[in-house]
Amino acid sequence: MRDRRPEGVAGATARDGEASLGAAFVLQWVNELACRVRDQRDYLTQLDAAIGDADHGINLDRGLTAAVAKVEGMGDEAPGTILEAVGTALTFTVGGAAGPLYGSGFRDLGKALGSKERFGPEDLLVALRAGLEAIQKLGAASVGDKTIVDAFIPALAAFERGLRAGEDLPAAATRAREAAEEGMRATVPLQARKGRASYLGPRSMGHQDPGATSTALLFSALEQAAGSANGLAGDRP
Ligand code: ADP
Ligand code: MG
Repeated sequence: MRDRRPEGVAGATARDGEASLGAAFVLQWVNELACRVRDQRDYLTQLDAAIGDADHGINLDRGLTAAVAKVEGMGDEAPGTILEAVGTALTFTVGGAAGPLYGSGFRDLGKALGSKERFGPEDLLVALRAGLEAIQKLGAASVGDKTIVDAFIPALAAFERGLRAGEDLPAAATRAREAAEEGMRATVPLQARKGRASYLGPRSMGHQDPGATSTALLFSALEQAAGSANGLAGDRP
């Protein structure tokens, strides 16, 4: 936290929907995601062993490690530029299905934020929507196909409902994380209709989808960064 930040400004702006978020927020989001994927790497890989090829945790951990290394010195860049760089790193280092999907998702998320230095919860909503659209454009998955989208769509809807109800960023981000986890758990009974797991047909039923699980981590990381932006750790003014 820098001392020129007026006390409490981040909390007030988050509630008012003003542009309180910046480079520090997106860097924290990406760092929190990388930490969660590192912690859950073996679990994600085990989930993928059941209905895929046992590489999801390994691939994502490798990609996020590369992404963090690439952006850690970018604190003076625009948040959108940072997220675009994350997307490019993921596309080139994750591999498999998830690499291009998360890669294009982060790239379009960043593009949606453009070159502005600061943004608010409404901008974040628009950017998350752009990220989801990129994932769906590339993967053509809908809710119920047992993919990333099963966690992302309900999370985004919950985030929007929270903001519409007048909630501040941390509260809306908590709703989003809860909805992502619910969507993740709801993939268990489903038969996969997209990606490698779909080759298993009915044998894909009874297993939680690895991609929906990593997307729940993405929203958990966002919740953590949002809580910090509301005054716990702060962001640049
Ligand atoms: P691969 O299947 O190539 O080994 P990963 O193991 O890294 O790739 O990722 C698998 C995850 O990717 C799946 O659990 C699923 O959530 C996600 N996925 C696969 N195909 C699609 C798709 N078309 N749209 C969205 N997500 C998908
Ligand atoms: Mg795999």
